[in-house]
Amino acid sequence: MPGYRGRFAPTPSGPLHLGSLVAALGSYLDARHVGGTWLLRIEDVDPPRCPPGTADAIRRQLEIYGLHWDGEVRHQRTRDAAYQAALDRLAAAGLAYPCSCSRKEWREHPVYPGWCRDGVRAPGRPLAWRLRSDLGERPVIWHDRLFGAQCFDPAERGDVVLKRKEGLWAYQLAVVVDDADQGITDVVRGVDLLDNTPWQWQLQAALGVPHPRYLHLPLVVAENGQKLSKQNLAPALPEDDASVRHRLHDALGLLAQAPPAALRTAPVAEQLAHAVSHWDPGRLDARAHLPAPPA
Ligand code: GLU
Repeated sequence: MPGYRGRFAPTPSGPLHLGSLVAALGSYLDARHVGGTWLLRIEDVDPPRCPPGTADAIRRQLEIYGLHWDGEVRHQRTRDAAYQAALDRLAAAGLAYPCSCSRKEWREHPVYPGWCRDGVRAPGRPLAWRLRSDLGERPVIWHDRLFGAQCFDPAERGDVVLKRKEGLWAYQLAVVVDDADQGITDVVRGVDLLDNTPWQWQLQAALGVPHPRYLHLPLVVAENGQKLSKQNLAPALPEDDASVRHRLHDALGLLAQAPPAALRTAPVAEQLAHAVSHWDPGRLDARAHLPAPPA
């Protein structure tokens, strides 16, 4: 599939752990299996959450694990003008609105009740920008390659923030603008982002850009059953050659690719060549939680 364009889009809030390696690997294999392009995009729209040097650390980790991307790395912090142009279009179409409300004011409600939809309630305060989730496509129906038919009403989840009061861009807008601008045809990422997809779908429709295909991957969980994440201190990925080979083999096992035991000590390039040619997302189990093997 020469037209295939995938991406790995980490937020550089910390180095990769086994969970994010599995997401990177799944998207890499899905792209390379069909001879597609695989891009790296650093989602650094929230600088206070992104310690200096982390994006470089992620690039180095991907290289150590043999996951080489195509072309230049895109950094979202350089994309202000594109996000503003998209927000301006949404606002002109009545699909985005400024909002002065603070979370404290609507904390009794399960989601933001849309008080500023018809005009800012408290002019003079700093303004966020929100999506009119009630006016877009509803419900949003799409097909996930692993989780099957999906149907969500974005309005039940509230008018998501597109630009924050401090002037920072929110993930939902940035991801849609960049996926479209980079011609991404296939999004492969962790299932923790599945319930963000309806807003992204609405935004794609509102901006008149194509919807990519979606494959959400089961999450890697720690022994206590919680998602492996930077917040719950997932162990760092090893970087010495022998352990890297083992960890890559573990990651392929977590993706249910049944890598041959004999490849466990093989160089990463050899393991990846085998995995690329044998990649079969049909082996993934939507009901699975993937327990992290001991580090
Ligand atoms: N930047 C997001 C994260 O690190 C992922 C974005 C995406 O794959 O859509 O969780």
